[in-house]
Amino acid sequence: MGGQASLVQGAHVVVVGGGFGGIAAAQQLKSQGFSFTLIDMRDAFHHNVAALRASVKPGFAQRTFIPYAATFGDSFVQGRVERVNTDTQTVVLAGGKEIQYTHLILCTGTDGAFPGKFNTVASYQTAIQTYEDFVKQVQTADSVLVVGGGSTGVEMAAEIKTEYPEKRVVLIHSRIDLADPELQPSVRQEAKMVLVEKGVELLLGQKVLNLSELQLNVTQKNTIVTTDKGTSLTTDLIISCVGLKINSAAYASSFSGCLAENGALKVNEHLQVKGYSNVYAVGDCADINEPKTAYHAGLHAAVAVTNISYSLNGNELTPYHTGSITMLLAMGHDDGVGQFNGFKLPRCLVALGKSRGLLLWKSWREMGQKQP
Ligand SMILES: Cc1cc2nc3c(=O)[nH]c(=O)nc-3n(C[C@H](O)[C@H](O)[C@H](O)COP(=O)(O)OP(=O)(O)OC[C@H]3O[C@@H](n4cnc5c(N)ncnc54)[C@H](O)[C@@H]3O)c2cc1C
Repeated sequence: MGGQASLVQGAHVVVVGGGFGGIAAAQQLKSQGFSFTLIDMRDAFHHNVAALRASVKPGFAQRTFIPYAATFGDSFVQGRVERVNTDTQTVVLAGGKEIQYTHLILCTGTDGAFPGKFNTVASYQTAIQTYEDFVKQVQTADSVLVVGGGSTGVEMAAEIKTEYPEKRVVLIHSRIDLADPELQPSVRQEAKMVLVEKGVELLLGQKVLNLSELQLNVTQKNTIVTTDKGTSLTTDLIISCVGLKINSAAYASSFSGCLAENGALKVNEHLQVKGYSNVYAVGDCADINEPKTAYHAGLHAAVAVTNISYSLNGNELTPYHTGSITMLLAMGHDDGVGQFNGFKLPRCLVALGKSRGLLLWKSWREMGQKQP
C-alpha cells in the first residue's frame, strides 16, 4: 500500500458524471487509493442499457438505479456542474460550490428521449416510479409506434413485442437498414429478421411528420400519425427513440476551443483533452470515432485512470485504441443479435450473455451493492 499511497499523495481527481464511464473511473480510483470526488446531478447511477426492459416489465426498474452514496460515501457529491475553471483548477456547481482538482475526468455522456434515458433531476425513487407509471401506459395501449430504428428503437420494439405479443407494434425508421451503421450488415439484417419473426411491423425509409407536436409516452387511443411518404397509421402510444445529444453544458464554456461540432471533447490518444495534460474525457462525451457504448466508456475510464497514475509516477502514458466493434442488441429477454470483436455471434449466445439479465449484475457488482 505504501508505494501506491505515496504515488497518489497530493492528487485529488474529480470525476464529473456518474454514468458507465464515471462509475468505472471512480471505482478504479477508489481501489487504487486515490482521493477523488464523483459528481453527478442525480443521486443514483442509471443503468440505461436496461431502461427499455424497465419500460415494459413491472417491478424491474428498481434494478436499474444504483445509489451512489452507498458505494462512494463522502466521495460522492450530488450537484450540477456548470463550468470548469482551468486557471484555479476547480469545477463550479450550480449554487456556487467549488471543488478543486489536480486531475479532472469529464464523463457527462449523452441525453436523449425517455424511456431510453432518464433526463429529469429527481430522486431515484421518483425515477423508479416514473418507469413503473410508464409500464402502465404501455400495458393500456393496444398498439405502439416506436419512432427511430437505431439500436435503441430496435431493442424497444423487440422488448414490447416480446413482453406483450398481442399488441400491434410498428417501428418506423427514416432509413432502410436498422440498428447502428457500425454493425456488420449481416448483424443489422438479423436484427430486422428477428423483429419480423416476432411480429413487429416495419415502416422503413419514412419519417413521422410533426413528431415534436405529437404527445409521447402517454396512451391516447387511436392517435393518427402521418409520414413524409403519405402513409397514415393509427396508434395508441408513441415512443421516440431518436435524438441523442452530447451533454456538454458542464464544460462547453471552459473548453470551447476543444469541442467537436456535436459538443464532444477532442482528445489525444491518451484521452487527454487537447491542450490539457490533467484533463481527460471518457465515454460518450469524448470525440472518438467509434460507436458510443457503455462498453467503450468502461475501456476509456481504465485508460484515463491508468494515465493519471502513470503521469504521477513519471511513466510513459498508455494510448487508447479502438478495437474491432463489440455490440450486442437484446431483442427481448429471449433473443439477441450482435458481434464480439468483429465476429458475428449466434443469437442464442447473445440472448444468454446479454438479453436475459442485461448485464445488470456487472454494475451492481462494480458498485459493491446487492441487486434487489
Ligand atoms: C436505451 C439505450 C440502450 C443502450 N444499450 C447499450 C448496450 O447494450 N451496450 C452498450 O455498451 N451501450 C449501450 N448504450 C449506450 C450507453 O448507454 C452509453 O454509451 C453510455 O451510457 C455512455 O456512458 P457515459 O458514462 O459516457 O455517459 P452517461 O451514461 O450518459 O452518463 C452521464 C452522466 O453524467 C451526468 N451529468 C451530465 N451532465 C452533468 C452535469 N453538468 N453535472 C453533473 N452531472 C452531469 C448524468 O446525470 C449522467 O449520470 C445504450 C444507450 C441507450 C440510450
